[in-house]
Amino acid sequence: MRVAIIGGGPAGCTAAYTLRKFGCDVHLFERDNRIGGRTSQIRKEGFNLGTGALFLMGGIYPRTNAILKELGHDKDVVPWKATTHVVDWDRQRYTARFDKITSFIMLPVFNFLDRLKIVFGIVKQFLSPGPKSLFDGAELAHYDHGETLDTWSDRVLGKKGTNYLTLPYMGFLYAVPLSWQSTPLFQGVVQQFYKLSLQVPPEGVGQFSEWLVEGTPGLDLHLSTPVEAVSIHDAGGYTVSAGGNSYDVDGVVMAPEPGVAADLLTGLIPPDSLAKLRNCRYSEYAHVQLCYKKNPWPNFPASIALPATNLRNWGACVLLSRRHPNSVPPGGEAVGVYFYTPPLANMTDDDIKREALTAVTEVFGAAPEPDFIEMFHYKRGLSLSPPGHFATLNSLHSEMPSGIVLAGDYFAHAGVEAAVLSGERAAYRLLGK
Ligand SMILES: Cc1cc2nc3c(=O)[nH]c(=O)nc-3n(C[C@H](O)[C@H](O)[C@H](O)COP(=O)(O)OP(=O)(O)OC[C@H]3O[C@@H](n4cnc5c(N)ncnc54)[C@H](O)[C@@H]3O)c2cc1C
Repeated sequence: MRVAIIGGGPAGCTAAYTLRKFGCDVHLFERDNRIGGRTSQIRKEGFNLGTGALFLMGGIYPRTNAILKELGHDKDVVPWKATTHVVDWDRQRYTARFDKITSFIMLPVFNFLDRLKIVFGIVKQFLSPGPKSLFDGAELAHYDHGETLDTWSDRVLGKKGTNYLTLPYMGFLYAVPLSWQSTPLFQGVVQQFYKLSLQVPPEGVGQFSEWLVEGTPGLDLHLSTPVEAVSIHDAGGYTVSAGGNSYDVDGVVMAPEPGVAADLLTGLIPPDSLAKLRNCRYSEYAHVQLCYKKNPWPNFPASIALPATNLRNWGACVLLSRRHPNSVPPGGEAVGVYFYTPPLANMTDDDIKREALTAVTEVFGAAPEPDFIEMFHYKRGLSLSPPGHFATLNSLHSEMPSGIVLAGDYFAHAGVEAAVLSGERAAYRLLGK
């Protein structure tokens, strides 16, 4: 079988890897000059900067782990014990561990009754039925009862539990108000708290896609080659037009963002299906990386700072050398400042950079000017999963014409595991397995 894969993020790379294992002739088309999509890395002056993703999440990423093992790289990923300062509205700070969600229960802001409510809420959730995979849209749909995360968290963990546990936690992961999110992901994180850990490949999360491509011998990789059109071929199958050439294939894996998939599928799928792809919600997302050749804070006692409430414009500050020393040149440091989505509507790029510098001074202390600053600003950064999202997107799979399958994290919600799972499933769907 000859297959074209459109998009070289973790979803497309996983689909390529899986299809090659079954002997398919695979062309992978990527618009950019590097693979990895929103996990890709930029190397500059000894710094290795993530354009997006920061970490993998241990036992709640089972398919990612299984593939790492198959590729022989499971021992290469480095654990990150992420000591975290939760910064209160009055600048008080409390220590927890982001990779141990239960450590938040011991924050001194909680009194005995607060803690009792949180522990009772967590135990009740732990004992309730829930999704096995937190990144499988079909399963998540089953546990989406139409409630938003803010009301669920207030009811089950209490208002203080929301402010000092759910908000900093989900604020870092998704950077949007809890009222924009459905409940199954966070409920699942609470249920599977004992599986959660943070891990980073030595060259950053983008290295996962690089390892996939290296582990796919015989793959025809076309970088800097955006696919411009997909049409039905007279003899059956499809013709894919990219970089001034045409490729006749038996099957297509569509793994770019859903808006691009909709453009390429216009005329091939019903208007209702196109609307589902086009209406898939994304958040605007910006993060700034401040790069210092000489580390101004070598002894800072934490690697992440998270605001307790959403009164600040930023949702996390991260010392990147603590995540993995290869992120910076020897003796250097880089700080990632990750912004909440709503304030971005009223901020220019200069505002964002200025505010990143202020945040870093507030959190880590005064420092000389960084040697350089890199900003990553996505109009469509993270796929969101408000109530109803999983069921709507999941129904798309049965609406595709024979020989075309969809992949991408948006079938669940942003996260490498969602992309990997969708890429594997897309490959199996195409193979009729
Ligand atoms: C700032 C940020 C932080 C994140 N942090 C984390 C994290 O810490 N951990 C985690 O697990 N996840 C994180 N994520 C989410 C993670 O990056 C995504 O879930 C993952 O990249 C999704 O993979 P994908 O393959 O579905 O899509 P993408 O990574 O977006 O890949 C899609 C690819 O399609 C290509 N493409 C688009 N159009 C075309 C075309 N016409 N022809 C050919 N190619 C095309 C694009 O260039 C892109 O490479 C983060 C994301 C962002 C933005």
